[in-house]
Amino acid sequence: MADTLKLVKKISRLAQGKHHLRFMEVCGTHTVAIFRSGIRQILPDNVELVSGPGCPVCVTNDDYIDKAIAYARRKNFIVATFGDMLKVPGSRSSLAAVTAEGADVRIVYSPLDCVKLAEENPHKKIIFLAVGFETTAPTAAATVLAAQSRGSKNLFMLSAQKLVPPALRLLLDDAAVNVDGFLLPGHVAVVIGANAFNFLPDEFNIPSAIGGFEAEEILSALASLLEQVDDGRAEVSNNYRSVVKSEGNVAAQKILAQVYEVTDADWRGMGTIPASGLKMRDEFAAFDIERVEPVDVKLVKKKSACRCGEVLRGVIKPTDCPLFGKACKPLHAIGPCMVSVEGVCAAWFKYGGGKFSF
Ligand code: SF4
Repeated sequence: MADTLKLVKKISRLAQGKHHLRFMEVCGTHTVAIFRSGIRQILPDNVELVSGPGCPVCVTNDDYIDKAIAYARRKNFIVATFGDMLKVPGSRSSLAAVTAEGADVRIVYSPLDCVKLAEENPHKKIIFLAVGFETTAPTAAATVLAAQSRGSKNLFMLSAQKLVPPALRLLLDDAAVNVDGFLLPGHVAVVIGANAFNFLPDEFNIPSAIGGFEAEEILSALASLLEQVDDGRAEVSNNYRSVVKSEGNVAAQKILAQVYEVTDADWRGMGTIPASGLKMRDEFAAFDIERVEPVDVKLVKKKSACRCGEVLRGVIKPTDCPLFGKACKPLHAIGPCMVSVEGVCAAWFKYGGGKFSF
């Protein structure tokens, strides 16, 4: 507690006399941790935290959900997913809705659970919805390898896994985004390493700090961002040294490289970002449901006032969306940012965005 107060005072001191500073927390886990610990409320008025595109469910496009639904509707298919995906609206329905109609959709806690599910259901095709960033991708890759070594013929991935650094590049090239520094995701950095973010200071001269998820760890990273601004320098400060190494988790990187190759990927609200996704290598095509049994979905173009795309780029706050808290609430979510537990709109709705001072 004493350290926490020291950090709060340090942040206040460093912020004094500065222009309005906007720091982006890139990851959804940080967004929730920041709200839960009340950090937004105790920051100086000229230090603003904006949320970025780090909620994997939120940045997944409608057509992916539509494909998952199309597979779930097929006879003898089981779609396995993390619970967050169930209520995410596609262009015409959601997995929750098709489950109510009789589709077999199961919630799993790890993709590795699907190996057992496939063995228990030999006459069904099991599809895991592999949605996530570098944090979860190694476990999905390990699942593919486990399925291969066990000779599984009925376990597949529907992959929409994404890479964080290319999305940060795109944000920095977008004049509307306008941030003064990044609070970088600790769990992504555990896998890819602190060095993977060196392009931020080297190419964009932007302060960055890798942070853990406890209040003190987040404050420490924010203090580091302010120190960099104060000194007029930019670096990648590793404020999560207990778990993040400069080179990352080399074993996890190897398994990723073994199973996946880098490809372009579509992000909700950000379009197609070059080299920002993972697709299974040809050697593992037998586990890629889109190559084994492609499905053709016709995206229904909806007219929606949902502004998730801008929320995910930190261009607007959830409260700037006219539907926030009115037509769109967690129990009646219109966009994915209100559905996911890591969604920015859901966090604003649950915890509020107001400020208080001591
Ligand atoms: S409040 Fe709802 S409708 Fe508005 S941007 Fe967020 S998720 Fe979309």
